[in-house]
Order: sequence, then C-alpha cells, then structure tokens
Amino acid sequence: GEEKKKKSFTLEKSEEAFSAAKEMMPGGVNSPVRAFKSVGGQPIVFDSVKGSHMRDIDGNDYIDYVGSWGPAIIGHADDEVLFFFTAICNFSIYERLSFCESLGTQDCSHSVLLEKWHIVKSRVLAALSETMKKGTSFGAPCLLENVLAEMVIKAVPSIEMVRFVNSGTEACMGVLRLARAYTGREKIIKFEGCYHGHADPFLVKAGSGVATLGLPDSPGVPKAATYETLTAPYNDIAAVENLFENNKGEICGIILEPVVGNAGFIPPKPEFINAIRRITEENNALLIFDEVMTGFRLAYGGAQEYFGITPDLTTLGKIIGGGLPVGAYGGRREIMEMVAPAGPMYQAGTLSGNPLAMTAGIHTLKRLQKPGSYEYLDKITSELVQGIIDAGKKTGHAICGGYIRGMFGFFFTEGPVYNFADAKKSDTAKFARFYQGMLREGVYFAPSQFEAGFTSLAHTAEDIQKTIAAAENGKICHV
Ligand code: PLP
Repeated sequence: GEEKKKKSFTLEKSEEAFSAAKEMMPGGVNSPVRAFKSVGGQPIVFDSVKGSHMRDIDGNDYIDYVGSWGPAIIGHADDEVLFFFTAICNFSIYERLSFCESLGTQDCSHSVLLEKWHIVKSRVLAALSETMKKGTSFGAPCLLENVLAEMVIKAVPSIEMVRFVNSGTEACMGVLRLARAYTGREKIIKFEGCYHGHADPFLVKAGSGVATLGLPDSPGVPKAATYETLTAPYNDIAAVENLFENNKGEICGIILEPVVGNAGFIPPKPEFINAIRRITEENNALLIFDEVMTGFRLAYGGAQEYFGITPDLTTLGKIIGGGLPVGAYGGRREIMEMVAPAGPMYQAGTLSGNPLAMTAGIHTLKRLQKPGSYEYLDKITSELVQGIIDAGKKTGHAICGGYIRGMFGFFFTEGPVYNFADAKKSDTAKFARFYQGMLREGVYFAPSQFEAGFTSLAHTAEDIQKTIAAAENGKICHV
C-alpha cells in the first residue's frame, strides 16, 4: 500500500495551475513564502482543508502543520458541534466531578452540565453561513464587534480597549503610530528576525518571507521610513540597554514577538523578557507584544498570560479572525483613548470589524474555551517535536527544536538557538531535502526553515505518529 501511495504522488495539476498563476501574479502567489523558493520543487495548489488535513488539486492529502500560518488552531473548516455534549453523556462520575471542578461549579447534575455546555458550543461554518445571510459588510457598527471585543478584553491581560483592523500588518502599523502619538517619541526598537508585517518601518532585519528569501531590507522602503527603527539581536539585554543609553528620551517603545515564530521557533530567555519589561518602565517607553502569532496560541491570554508579563500594548491577528482577515491592537484605556475618534491619532478601515470576520473569531475563541484545549495542544506538540528530534538522533542528523503549546519549530543544527544569527546556522539545504521527502509522505510543514509550525485541536495522536514515522522512514533528510 505504501509503495502504491508513493508512486501515485503527482503534482501535475498543481504544476499547470502554478505556471498559469506565474503569468498573472508576481511569483505566482499573493504572499511570498507560498512559492517554495527556499525548499525548491513545485508549490502545491490546494483545493480544500478540513480538520488537521489539506487536500491539493491533484487529490493528495497532507497532515497540515501550517494551519494557514496560525488561524486554524481549532482545525480547518470547523463544524463540530456535538463532540463535547457527547463527551459529557459518556463521562464517568469521576470525570464529571473533575469537569465540574474545571468549570468552577460544585453542582455536577446533568442539567448544570447541559447549561454549561453552551460555553463551548461552537461551529464556525454554521455560524458563518447564518451571519452571511444578513450581509457581508455594513461599514457601520454591528453587534458582533462588541461580542468579540468583550472576549478579547476578558482574555488578554493588557487589553482594556481594542481596535479591530483587517490584518496583522495593519495592527502593527496602528500600534506603532499609537506608541509614537502617546509618548511623543519616534524611535522604536525591534529585534532581528522578528516580523511585524510589511509596513515600511518594520522591514528592517525582518523575519518571515524576508528571512526565507535571504533578502536584504526591501527596495522601495524609503530610508527615511526606517531611520527611527533601531534593531537588536533577540535575547540580548545588553544591546537593548545600549540602545536606550544612546537614544535617551527618544525611544517610544520596544516591539517584539514574545516567542519568535518568524525566524523559526525561538523562545525568549526568562531573564530577557523580564528585563525588557523593566527597561521600558525605567525609560517611560512602552512595551508592545506582537501577539499576532502567539495570541490565543500559547495560552488563552497569549504569551503575556503564559509568561506572566503584561505589556502596555498588544497586537493580535490570525486566530481572532478564525481564518478570515482580521487584526487588532489594544492596551490600556488611557493609551487607546488616543485613537480616533476618541482621540487624535488617526486610523480607519472600510472592512474593519466586518460581521463575517467577527463571527469566525468568536466561534474559534469559544472552542478554545473548552477545558483542556491548551493541555491537549501541549501534549501533542511535545510528542511531535520530541519524535522528530529522536528520529534525527536515530538517523544521525543534528536537530534542535522546541515548542510551547500549539507552536513549535526545529532547526537542522546542534543549537542552542537564541537569536536569528543562531537560526541561520541551520543547514537549510538539508531542511529542503527533508521538506520534499515529508511532502511525499503526506506531511505539509511550513515551506521554510525560518517559520514556526502550528498544531491544532484537530490533530490526532495518529497524525503525530504518522508524521514521526514519515520522518524516520525517510531517515530524516530523504536523500
Ligand atoms: N506580526 C506577526 C508576529 C506575524 O507573525 C505576522 C504574520 O505572520 C504579522 C505581524 C503580519 O500579519 P498579516 O500577515 O496578517 O499582515
């Protein structure tokens, strides 16, 4: 069977579609990393996604660890509704008690459980089609904005008020303008290899596609747009202190990915994340967590909940849109009240807060509220990463890797990896061979050594075992 499966792997339709796309869209894509430049080979054109799997237009099936680059944390095209209900019916008394405890209730009668059930009842596709019947965009307030805003404010420790936009890029643009407006200072510190969307001031030593393609900072970005962007290596406290020392009273804040995903997976050292909170406070500068990737992924309250460090401002995206275009920025009320029309800092959007995106976000967050969601992500992701590292050991390839809850990564190097320079020591040619081999085994990782991977509630133990077996089968680097 295995042999047959491998022989039937063909990408003919993808090839045809992609060569047509190349004539019409730059590089054949609408976002660079999709083009497989760094892993080589034929980019896959997809037909449909469901749960933890994706299907391409040639009919090949893949276990997906990209999750649309983050939004698909509950699995793609969610229409699960009865799972939790059924689970309650089948609970033993002991399970029922511990479930009640997790909900904070003493009464574990059936009626109470049923009443509590609505907390987790969610069904993204069904909710979207209901919302759609009422229209796709009002360009005026809708009730769903309040619902998602309330959920975000309740969940994320730093957020007292929030503004919805349409992408992570927009969220980061808005938050930078706000930090500058609030402090009256223009310089901002970002870290090498961190990606905060494609707005001009952030395309300095940026991660994601910029790192994947090995680009210098992008042509077309005026020098003047980046004069005020200062950079430091990630996890380097002394470098940050020096920047503040040399630019006294001029730095509005620090923006960072609290766990880097856009240079591969790089967690912060605990002393680093504590130090930047202290240093920003000492210098009356703002600490901005770009949680576009980590928000609702490392914990329901994001990296700030996970690390117990509250920034002044936060950006969100991906998960809070449940696969529709969304971003958000938020923070302390007194800062957010500078945003127009409450205050003078201008920022607007034709489709911002549109009902469809709000709906997908609301129902994705509801699903994440299910007790045990993050424990589950933690368990399967740890198994996956450990399995891949072990497969490397067995087959004689140095791999280092890590994970937190539903976010992970591994590099083809001994490690440790503390910053982008360390990440670049990874053997990217080996990664490309590994990548091609895994595709043929039916596993879709991010097509770049410098992107994190994502798991979802839809990934099963079987998915993980198959993935590890695929890595072992191909002796990791598939040569
Ligand atoms: N910030 C971070 C941390 C991201 O990971 C991304 C996208 O991957 C962005 C900002 C930009 O978001 P978007 O692609 O929605 O513009």
